[in-house]
Amino acid sequence: MVVGLHRSSRLVIDAEAIRYNVRTEIERLDQQSELFAVIKANGYGHGITKVAQFTKEAGATGFCVAILDEALELREAGFEEPILVLGITEVKWAKLAADHDISLTVGDLEWLKTASQLIGDKQQLKVHLALDTGMGRIGFQSEEAFQEAASYLENTAKFNFEGVFTHFATADEKDKKYFDLQVNRFHSFMKRLVKRPKYVHVSNTATSLWHAACNGNMIRFGVGIYGMNPSGRALNPPYDLKPAMSLESEISFSKLLKKGRSVSYGATYTASEDQYIGTIPIGYADGYERRLQGFHVLIDGQFCEIVGRVCMDQLMVRMPKLYPVGTKVILAGRSGNQAISMTDIAEYAGTINYEITCGFTERLPRTYN
Ligand code: PLP
Repeated sequence: MVVGLHRSSRLVIDAEAIRYNVRTEIERLDQQSELFAVIKANGYGHGITKVAQFTKEAGATGFCVAILDEALELREAGFEEPILVLGITEVKWAKLAADHDISLTVGDLEWLKTASQLIGDKQQLKVHLALDTGMGRIGFQSEEAFQEAASYLENTAKFNFEGVFTHFATADEKDKKYFDLQVNRFHSFMKRLVKRPKYVHVSNTATSLWHAACNGNMIRFGVGIYGMNPSGRALNPPYDLKPAMSLESEISFSKLLKKGRSVSYGATYTASEDQYIGTIPIGYADGYERRLQGFHVLIDGQFCEIVGRVCMDQLMVRMPKLYPVGTKVILAGRSGNQAISMTDIAEYAGTINYEITCGFTERLPRTYN
C-alpha cells in the first residue's frame, strides 16, 4: 500500500494518552492481576508495534492479537512478552507458533491431537482453552469436552496449559441478565478443572470497566487503550478515557460557490446561496466513509458540514468564510473549544467507534507524539 506522505491528511496518535489509559486501568486491578494489551488489527488502527511499545511502557505484561501473523510481527519487532492469538489458528501452524513461543487459542480436542504430531519432540506449545459460555463464536460448549481436553493437556508434555478464558457478548450493556448467565456458565466450567492454569481471563475493556469483580488474574484490555468507550454512550466509564487518535488534514482547494451550483457526484447538494466551499484531500479510500456525507469537520474551532458525496480521495465542506489553502482541518479530535470523537463519527455512520479507527487505511500516515 502506498502511504500518502506528500499530502496533508494524517492520523496523529497521542502516546501519552495510550500510556495514561493503560496505567489508570492497571491501578484499578488487584496486585496479582496482569493487563494484556489487545493490539490486533494494527492496534485498532493505531499501529501495532508502536502501541505495543507504549502499552509496555505503561505496565502491560503481555499482548493479545487476532491472528498468528500479528504475533509474528511483534516477535520480529523484538517483543519477548507473552503473546496470545485470540482467534483459532489453523493447526498446520502449531509448530511455527511453538518456534516463536506464541500462545494459541484452542477450542477442541482434535486440534490438540493433530498439533501434538506436528510439534517437535523437545518443544512445548502454550495453549489457552476457550470456553463458549454464550458468545457463540469459538470454544468448548460442553463441560465434558472441556474437561477431557484439560486432562489431555495435563498429560501431554508437548503442551503448556497456560490459560483458560471466555468472552462476554453483552458486557457493554446496561442489562446484566445475559452477562450473568455467561458468568454462571463460566463458573460451572471452571469447577471441572483439577488445576487452574497460569491465566484465567474473561475481561475485555467493558468487563473490566463495569464488572471488575469477575476479572480473573489477567484482563484483555483493548478499546480502552485507545481511549474509546466500548459502550458508545450507553455506560459511563469509571474514569475519563483519553482519546489517542486524531485525524487531521488541510484545505487543498478553496472557493466561492455561486448560488445554484452543485457539489460532487450525483449533484446531490446545491448551494441555496453563494457559499464558501473547501476541499479536503481525504475520502473513502482512506476509510473516511461515504456514509459521512452531511456530517461535519472542524475548521478554526467551528463545525463545517460535509456537503455532497464523499469521493474516494476528496470531500467538500461548507465554510463560514473563505479559509485559504493550507488551513488546518480536524476530522476527529479537538479544535478550539469543540471536538469530534470517534464515537460521534461512528454514531453518524451507524456503526461503533472500533470500526472507525480500524477502518482507516494504510494510505493515511500515522504520526506519533
Ligand atoms: N478478548 C477477545 C476475545 C476479543 O475478541 C477482544 C476484541 O474484540 C478483546 C478481548 C478486546 O475487546 P475490547 O476492545 O472491547 O476491550
